[in-house]
Amino acid sequence: MLWRITYFLVWQIAGGGLGWWEAGPWGAALGAALAGWAWFVWDLLRGVRVLRWLRTGDLADVPAMRGIWGEAADRARRLLRKQEALVRDSQDRLQEILAALQASPNGVVLLDAQGRIEWCNQMAASQFGFDAQRDVMQSIGNLLRNPEFTAYFAAKDFSSDVVLEGRLSTPSRPVRISVHLHPYGDGRTLLLSRDVTALEQADAMRRDFVANVSHEIRTPLTVLTGFVETLQTLPLSADERARYLGMMAQQAQRMQSVVQDLLTLSRLEGSPLPGMAEWTPVQSLMQRCEEEGRALSALLTQNQPRTHEIRFPSAEVLRSEGDIAGVPAELQSALSNLVNNAVRYTPAGGSIAVVWERKEDGGAVFSVQDTGPGIAPEHIPRLTERFYRVDRSRSRETGGTGLGLAIVKHVLQRHGATLDISSTLGKGSVFSVTFPANRLRGFALQG
Ligand code: ADP
Repeated sequence: MLWRITYFLVWQIAGGGLGWWEAGPWGAALGAALAGWAWFVWDLLRGVRVLRWLRTGDLADVPAMRGIWGEAADRARRLLRKQEALVRDSQDRLQEILAALQASPNGVVLLDAQGRIEWCNQMAASQFGFDAQRDVMQSIGNLLRNPEFTAYFAAKDFSSDVVLEGRLSTPSRPVRISVHLHPYGDGRTLLLSRDVTALEQADAMRRDFVANVSHEIRTPLTVLTGFVETLQTLPLSADERARYLGMMAQQAQRMQSVVQDLLTLSRLEGSPLPGMAEWTPVQSLMQRCEEEGRALSALLTQNQPRTHEIRFPSAEVLRSEGDIAGVPAELQSALSNLVNNAVRYTPAGGSIAVVWERKEDGGAVFSVQDTGPGIAPEHIPRLTERFYRVDRSRSRETGGTGLGLAIVKHVLQRHGATLDISSTLGKGSVFSVTFPANRLRGFALQG
């Protein structure tokens, strides 16, 4: 400010001095007045330059001047630069937030107060078939025409979610999307969507499983209760009592098998994956399978004119097959289960052939071939489901629980092995297990 006054005075004195020199005291007064005006115009022009620059705010073209206008321009420049940095900072932050929302495994849609899409992530776009760019500012009601969603949106009660059929849903591959709206800000709404197909399927499976278990236990229990009542109320002969008690023992045994298999399954689910520390000779596993298979066959065919023809590789061949890594009891139960199934489902007189074959990649295949009834193709993918049976009565007659193949599949998965089933109705079935090379040793040395 001091400079400004000094400048003004200098102009006045210079103008006054020039006027005095030209025309005496009157000339001095006129010169001072003219100099004052000239200073005013010069100052105004400087101000106009700063104002003109402020209108564009171009930081590359700041007017270079001294004095009060120069300082004003400089301060404005600094403020603008600060502002620019702040804007850049908040833009970066907005981009980061949008990138995080983009990376979300759930669909995110931001709706304005009129229910128009302001932004949506790629997941929401694919779940609802939106175009993340083209559909901006489109009303969600026009794009999502599902009646359940329309009712949910109109009711404005967003305390719970609504589950909609996914746009790619088909009867064989249902897709279920949960949509939840959350009001925020000034009448705006946040739409969160997530794929709940797997959750719903797991829930349905859990319900089915509980229903199946209850049914499996209740059926023998009802029979048992009936026999107990009969024994309590009717005067029975010793023979009849013995017969009834025999049937009761059978039902109790059935319940015990179901519980036993359920416990095995839950133990498998809860235990750590089998390591590579424990090795069992392939020969001993096969030997146990053979003993169990032959004993079961003898039991099932004891009153029949013919038995099964059962073939296993010779002990001599098996001796050179080396060892397999895993939990011996689990491996034994899985392999025996396949042999026992072949025995149980093959009528007397049929044959069962068990093979252990090395593969070129160092793995091995254990396969059980039978000449039983065979399995229709539509049942094959479902055989390893819990309690899935093709022939319920045959399964029950031979002491089946419907859990055997579920246990086998679980054990094999834990050991990195796979189960393949091929079958021809009326001809027989082949159940093959492929073990990976890393679980086998000793073959090359001895073979
Ligand atoms: P189950 O205790 O009923 O035998 P599994 O899980 O072991 O239960 O087998 C499931 C179903 O697969 C059986 O009920 C049966 O219908 C079918 N199955 C299994 N093995 C054979 C086989 N070797 N031949 C024909 N059907 C079989």
